[in-house]
Amino acid sequence: MDMYRVDPVALAQSYDIEVVGTPFIDVDGSIEKKDTKIVLMYNTNSHPNRQRFTIAHELGHFIAGHLNGSTKMFRDQSKNFTIDNYDIQEVEANQIAAQILMPQETVKHLIEDVGISTIEELASILDVSTGAMHYRLKNLGII
Ligand SMILES: [Zn+2]
Repeated sequence: MDMYRVDPVALAQSYDIEVVGTPFIDVDGSIEKKDTKIVLMYNTNSHPNRQRFTIAHELGHFIAGHLNGSTKMFRDQSKNFTIDNYDIQEVEANQIAAQILMPQETVKHLIEDVGISTIEELASILDVSTGAMHYRLKNLGII
């Protein structure tokens, strides 16, 4: 089942982003444009599921082009990852993070072909929190 698990670090690195895990930051994650270099940092004190979502979220800022304007850095506390956040760029980054970690085709395949029938199992296979999985299934119209 490990074949379905996405590695957001490898994905970020494939975009030439420098990925740094450290316990010495006061946020869950950040992404910064330094001249031509992009540096993504994430807090290794956070829960492993949170770390994966944080990395995907920061990568989401990059993929959405949020670093192409005047803002050169995003710093994210976990409150930026909740559905109560209405900042358009944070919502976009969250949507991309969900797509990265829980691709629609993979989720449908696991349910329809593999026969996975619980949120807990899906979350475990994709290595995400059950909360994130639940929200993704709602967004996909599956529940
Ligand atoms: Zn953010």
